[in-house]
Amino acid sequence: MSEKNVRVLDHALGAASLSIVRARQTTPDIFRKHLQELSILLFVEASRNWGTKAVEIETPLAPCAGAVLAKPIVLVPILRAGLGMLDGIQRIAPDAAIGHIGLYRDAETLRPVSYYDKVPVNVAAAEVLLLDPMLATGNSACEAASLLKAHGARNIEFLCVVACPAGLEEFHKQHPDIPIITAAIDPQLDDHGYIVPGLGDAGDRYFGTG
Ligand code: URA
Repeated sequence: MSEKNVRVLDHALGAASLSIVRARQTTPDIFRKHLQELSILLFVEASRNWGTKAVEIETPLAPCAGAVLAKPIVLVPILRAGLGMLDGIQRIAPDAAIGHIGLYRDAETLRPVSYYDKVPVNVAAAEVLLLDPMLATGNSACEAASLLKAHGARNIEFLCVVACPAGLEEFHKQHPDIPIITAAIDPQLDDHGYIVPGLGDAGDRYFGTG
């Protein structure tokens, strides 16, 4: 597989937070805190090369060249676990519009089917970040990215905390144009579609439903 469109977070704070969210004994409150911190670091990495527009500002002392982001930001968590990546990012991008995509797995075809899909109207002009902590089989992420494209989104990046080769392969096959930013690439999927070693069920751990 070509991994040219995958960036793995390389940051000491990220490595420390990732270890905490992975650990079995981490309680939901601490899990939430560190998932949010990881999400902020992933967001900073994703936005590294975004375009800016020059603006003139005045400091208390003198005029000065400044910058604003060229495009608005749209955050799109995949329900439910993707919601766990939202709070942290919203802290540093409070103006971002939020879309939601809900998918379930059809019992017969095993394919993801959308049951909820609400995307901001400015998605075509925006920097769009698709959020899901786990890139496992890749099926949900691929379907969500296709939905975003159908809504006109053009500048999409996918942010996850843990990816695995099968998910990366599938996503890259269907959406080679979409960069993936992840905190880790783990070696494998188990028979139930969980990433190993991974961190378990991200939604259950975030919402305390496990
Ligand atoms: N979803 C999760 O929450 N965890 C995994 O390991 C895979 C999918």
